[in-house]
Amino acid sequence: MGQKILVVEDNELNLKLFCDLLRAHGYEAEAVRDGREAVERARAFAPDLVVMDIQMPHVSGLELIERMKADSGLRATPIMAVTAYAAKGDEERIRDAGAEGYVSKPISVLRFVEAVRALLDAAAERAATEREEAGGGEAGASERQFPRESRGPDGNGEGAEEGKADPGLRRDDAGPKDDTS
Ligand code: MN
Repeated sequence: MGQKILVVEDNELNLKLFCDLLRAHGYEAEAVRDGREAVERARAFAPDLVVMDIQMPHVSGLELIERMKADSGLRATPIMAVTAYAAKGDEERIRDAGAEGYVSKPISVLRFVEAVRALLDAAAERAATEREEAGGGEAGASERQFPRESRGPDGNGEGAEEGKADPGLRRDDAGPKDDTS
């Protein structure tokens, strides 16, 4: 199943364009027309990426980006801002708010899809690294401790040899996790 992308956009034509484009590339796209619903809908949909319009009535995309980045459940979800403003200061404000990517309107279809893919790839890589670091650290420590504790009375010399086998085991464990392509 394709990765999930939440599209927050008040303009009906753009919303349809973005969703059609994403679906044509195998993604599961969920449309949000009213920015006021965006955070709640994102929590429920648990997207892999959020495409965020900046100019919207009621609540700006900038504020929504800040809210999502302040939400512990949504913080790690990459956000790609889409805006008609091409001024340099606006891009900085968007990035300062926490958006990982930025595409200006009118969008280039190719650039839009490439930016989406790049952000998803970067997020998957980041998640894999974090899993490896967290998993490797904990598993490594407990694997090394258990044999030593159980062998404690027999001798310390043999425990060291078992410890050397651990990195190999961990490398094998890391392999199957890499199914992000
Ligand atoms: Mn808009």
